[in-house]
Amino acid sequence: MSVSPLRISDALLRRIQAHGVETFPHECCGAMLGRDSETSREVIELLPLANRRDDSPRNRFEVTPSDVQMAEKKAREMRVDVIGWYHSHPNAPARPSEFDREHAWPWYSYVIVSVEASGPRDTKSWRLRDDRSAYDPEVIESVAQSASI
Ligand SMILES: [Zn+2]
Repeated sequence: MSVSPLRISDALLRRIQAHGVETFPHECCGAMLGRDSETSREVIELLPLANRRDDSPRNRFEVTPSDVQMAEKKAREMRVDVIGWYHSHPNAPARPSEFDREHAWPWYSYVIVSVEASGPRDTKSWRLRDDRSAYDPEVIESVAQSASI
């Protein structure tokens, strides 16, 4: 299965990285709103979310049902869709963890930004296979400006 690249503007990509720097050494997370079609998938807006896992906010990203509801409501208002989720990996590579795999859903794009004390490092995107066995990398196509709504 080939998937289209994830298009995202430089400005939105920088906002994801800035969110990760802001919450460092804890994880940040948020929803990505945009449009998906056969040939393209593009992020148009971000919705930052609180990381509510008090037990281990450093390495446990989890989207709750109420986050999903809130993100879908916001997407409806903007006449777009929830196309994915982003989070940060403080002091860890931008690769999904086993916990991430167990708590993810197929179809969505999962952007992970690796953040160190010195600042953001790699930013990568992933998609969970339909059988949920593993993630496949998704190409990030950074564009100068988002499509207008
Ligand atoms: Zn993670």
